[in-house]
Amino acid sequence: MGTRKATDFNDSDLAETDRAIPPGSVIVQKFGGSSLADAAGILRAAERIAKTRTNGYRVVAVVSAMGDTTDELCDLAAEVSARPLPVDLDALLSIGELVSSALLAIALADLGQLPRTFTGSAAGLITDSIHGKAHITDVRPDRVRSSLARGEVPIVAGFQGRTQKGNRVTTLGRGGSDLTAVALAAALGADICEIYTDVDGVYTADPRVVPTARKIEVLSSEEMLEFAASGCKVLHLRCVEYARRFGIPIHVRSSFVPEPGTLILPGLDRHPLQPAREQPEVTGVAGVNSASKITVVGMPDQPDTMARILHVLSSSGAHVQAIVQNSAGKGPRRSDVALIVPAAHAGNALAVLDAEKGSIGFEGLQHDDKVGRVSITGLGMRSSPEIFCTFLKALSDADVELDLVDISETSVGAVTHSDRLADAERAVRRAFGMTPADEATAAGHEGHLTPAVGPPLQTWVPISGQDMTPVAAGDRTVARHF
Ligand code: ADP
Ligand code: ASP
Ligand code: MG
Repeated sequence: MGTRKATDFNDSDLAETDRAIPPGSVIVQKFGGSSLADAAGILRAAERIAKTRTNGYRVVAVVSAMGDTTDELCDLAAEVSARPLPVDLDALLSIGELVSSALLAIALADLGQLPRTFTGSAAGLITDSIHGKAHITDVRPDRVRSSLARGEVPIVAGFQGRTQKGNRVTTLGRGGSDLTAVALAAALGADICEIYTDVDGVYTADPRVVPTARKIEVLSSEEMLEFAASGCKVLHLRCVEYARRFGIPIHVRSSFVPEPGTLILPGLDRHPLQPAREQPEVTGVAGVNSASKITVVGMPDQPDTMARILHVLSSSGAHVQAIVQNSAGKGPRRSDVALIVPAAHAGNALAVLDAEKGSIGFEGLQHDDKVGRVSITGLGMRSSPEIFCTFLKALSDADVELDLVDISETSVGAVTHSDRLADAERAVRRAFGMTPADEATAAGHEGHLTPAVGPPLQTWVPISGQDMTPVAAGDRTVARHF
């Protein structure tokens, strides 16, 4: 899997020979909590930065809190209050990153560098005021730029910003330091954003769960976007979105070994290593079991009902991940709508929908919190029916009952009962040859894609963000999971 303990590390590991960008360029190097879990991790990060500087690059470091610090701070807050105010929680959680940045500064100074620490606020990360999951509204890194110009190493506390109005500390959502790093890289015009973590790249599945997973050398940001949205937590979803939007290349690599990791490059057609990729390609399998299905039963069949439901849900902060609409079989004017939301959002979503039951006019709500989604990500999915067929056949051969099925150009996914998710993932991995040969043979995988008869598909409403595109009656498939 390519992971090592801190004690396995030595100085010669820092031979950095793999960068293709010219010396003098700005590189943002982000060190995750798993890489900074202890003093050895801090020292390792400092040595990595110093080495990169010696090789002629200008470095901006972004740090996460050490190890499980953020979880521990959350637990402490829960001991003090059952309902801490989000604004106070942000003030607390942002401390973890400050500890790492100060320690990294101490270590860098010992190596003869000139470190300068910045809170997210001082680094110019401006956000909205949704505490706990704030969105970046502006990045004004003037002080970081000046620090670079003075020959210093700016160290920015990740995961945090400040509100435009009121100057309060905000946090960007769990795992948000990845986003800080990419946002700074974009604002500073950095050549690359390097994300240092405890695995040596992005794998076809979580290498801790699937030891046979393969490391991927290069991914387009579109593929990584799907992969992150499907539950691959090595990169934060919003960081991948941001990188794609601003054209920032990302290099996910190990803080323990020097070898290159996985490059994530914006734009399918700007793919320097494989300029002409037309063949369908399956790059990963992922599963998430932290979803809930809410069914709005007996919805009046009026053109604006769906929009009203989505509007109500967006006001609750619930992220709708997929929607399927069925005729309820209770006369022509009613239908049922199933919505998939992250499990953590289900309570709020149910509450706001229930409050609007009378005004929207639906008959009732059903809730299933045992929902999982298995998916494959890759390229050319929609234009390659054999991929879709293999996916469905694998699941039907494994007797996995499917609830909803979705397909986009870069992913195919199916919602199932969470108890069957592990079986579903195993079956899909096997079908796409991601298990050892003997296991694949035992499962009847013959090395080619066979057509399959899948479960009946339902009518999908394609959605993107909160926008909806109407679907012609009888149309099927094509919903984007986002
Ligand atoms: P950090 O502390 O550096 O932010 P994270 O824990 O957020 O690290 O992300 C790294 C972890 O992501 C790895 O330890 C690995 O278990 C997990 N992971 C999940 N899916 C994948 C995948 N497809 N490829 C690589 N790592 C993955
Ligand atoms: N420390 C924060 C967290 O644990 C942010 C991050 O690690 O990126 O979620
Ligand atoms: Mg992370």
